[in-house]
Amino acid sequence: MSKKISLIVPCYNEQESIPLFYEEVKKVSKEMKNVEFEMIFINDGSKDKTLEILRDLSKKDERVRYISFSRNFGKEAGMYAGLEAVTGDYAAIMDADMQDPPEKLIEMYDILLKEKVDCVALYTESHKGYNFVRKGLTNIWYKLIDKISDSKQMPGARDFRLMTKQMVDAIVDMKEYNRYTKGMFGFVGFETKWLPYHAPERVAGTSKFNLKKLVRYALEGVMAFSTTPLILAAYVGILFCLISFIAIIFIVIKTLLWGDPTSGWPSMACIIIFVSGIQLFFLGIIGMYLSKIYLEVKKRPVYIIKETEKTK
Ligand code: UDP
Ligand code: MG
Repeated sequence: MSKKISLIVPCYNEQESIPLFYEEVKKVSKEMKNVEFEMIFINDGSKDKTLEILRDLSKKDERVRYISFSRNFGKEAGMYAGLEAVTGDYAAIMDADMQDPPEKLIEMYDILLKEKVDCVALYTESHKGYNFVRKGLTNIWYKLIDKISDSKQMPGARDFRLMTKQMVDAIVDMKEYNRYTKGMFGFVGFETKWLPYHAPERVAGTSKFNLKKLVRYALEGVMAFSTTPLILAAYVGILFCLISFIAIIFIVIKTLLWGDPTSGWPSMACIIIFVSGIQLFFLGIIGMYLSKIYLEVKKRPVYIIKETEKTK
């Protein structure tokens, strides 16, 4: 019996990319003769013609399925909806912009079968098309997250990976509201084979992630898989206690030896501002985790579906 691969493609304003992506997958599926394909496009509240294009494609080709959200819920929500909808024996998450080239699937599927691993994933060492600032920040962030996170992450890892249904189910079973899929892959374990590759530039359109979205995504990654920032306050507190202890001894001795002329209020003001700044900073960190807990407790849906190929 032939095996089936489900492709999960989150799309946000990708009207130019989707037809190109579809054609490319068609080519690849012709080459992989003994494998069936299923494409699950997730329309993440696009404002362009994405949904129309998906409707047309699904009418023409029964391998094309789509899930259309009621608004933009973000790529994480898109991936979750896609993973839940998988019917294949294997699944791969891919960007619509061809930065995850479909022809790579041939090699990935080969390795998956030959090496009997659960997952074949790609990582990129060079980020073509990312500017200097984004490259630098990305590198620093991967180093940081590796130090403080419970779940190991490959630097430069993309969301593009081919995995077994068993691994998909493990991720779908993680029902958290604040989703950070890159960390979840590491969390669920399973054997992953990493392949290096060079990410090409996007075929059409522009990146849907601006700096603000990326910073939010990065913070999500830290908070979802690390509690180190919460504990950091305790360490800084101990450090400050030690410093103040030394300062107290110093001041007592100095006062005993030379008396206490009233001076030094500017330094006092600096110390007060500094220490209260640190306190507010850690209060802020606690607030960020608290807000995550707040959202988690409410159990809101991660996404809301308005239309699929079955309801149309
Ligand atoms: N995407 C999405 N919802 C969003 C933002 C992005 O579904 O709110 C999709 C987007 O259409 C693309 C993929 O996520 O298929 C990756 O986005 P993009 O290529 O813009 O990110 P980059 O490659 O610049 O990191
Ligand atoms: Mg892209």
